[in-house]
Amino acid sequence: MPFCSTAARSPTWQNWVVKPIRAVFITHAHMDHIMGVPTLVRHHHASPHPLDLYGPAGIAERVGHLLAGFEWNLAEPTWFTLRVHEVLPDRILHFSFPGPERFRRHFAGEEERQSREIWSCPYLTVAAEILDHKLPVLVFRVDERPHFSIDAAKLEQRGLVAGA
Ligand SMILES: [Zn+2]
Repeated sequence: MPFCSTAARSPTWQNWVVKPIRAVFITHAHMDHIMGVPTLVRHHHASPHPLDLYGPAGIAERVGHLLAGFEWNLAEPTWFTLRVHEVLPDRILHFSFPGPERFRRHFAGEEERQSREIWSCPYLTVAAEILDHKLPVLVFRVDERPHFSIDAAKLEQRGLVAGA
């Protein structure tokens, strides 16, 4: 998911089949790009899987402020952990917001940035670059990996044609 605005709740999106979200990429913290984070947490909190959120410098503090605006006394030990990653020019800072701990922020280390790539899965890689939008913002490049292996001989045997 490349942004976290309220557009994700628009009627247009309500008919979509949404697969489990593994990572969210936020360009910057202007209101229209970050105000959907509490809604995202609300819809993901019962998941057993952590969720990774990538953003520019300072994003963890802002996410912390957003989540601190709610009461979490009903938090369950099974709630997910939001993992926030701040992408800096030379390194990535890691923070965690464990649901069972009412989404309080913890610094979870840092790593040197070896390349533009910041996230990958078997289907996609995501690279980030820092640009200026009167503040540092991230721009993302998403590349789809060739994850479908089509056996051309078997297709031909069955009289099928590969899709475009
Ligand atoms: Zn903006």
